[in-house]
Amino acid sequence: MTLPDIRTGNGFDVHAFARDRKLFLCGVEIPSDMGLLGHSDADVALHALCDALLGAAALGDIGRHFPDTDPRYKGIDSRLLLRNVIALLTERGFSLVNADITIIAQAPKLMPYIETMRERVAEDTGIDISRISVKATTTEHLGFTGRREGIASLASVLIVKS
Ligand code: MG
Repeated sequence: MTLPDIRTGNGFDVHAFARDRKLFLCGVEIPSDMGLLGHSDADVALHALCDALLGAAALGDIGRHFPDTDPRYKGIDSRLLLRNVIALLTERGFSLVNADITIIAQAPKLMPYIETMRERVAEDTGIDISRISVKATTTEHLGFTGRREGIASLASVLIVKS
């Protein structure tokens, strides 16, 4: 019996807050007095999504494909990384079925930006927005996210080979 090639993947990422940085989440610039520190634009949510996609296809992780020691990726828009990851999966015959992203941040308030985030992710992954979920939660002031030291993100995806 041939099993259908349907796979799930999960991703997780954390970036620390820093002064004099812009804050990007799911490709959307969010007004904030602090941004996230990183070699790229530090879009923690897109990094978690990239890792979920690579994980589903058993293609390693974002650090392997886009090393933070490589000057080509300095300050790079993480939407380009996501588009690159989608291309890697497409080359191997995989299509994204859905993605579910959770952003864990005490601040700033993300609700006003969620729909734009979904639009950006839908554009970059090439699937309908109805298949893209972006959620935000706090940790009730607990832990490093609660102390506003940084932002964490989780992502789950389903991919299928056709
Ligand atoms: Mg990262």
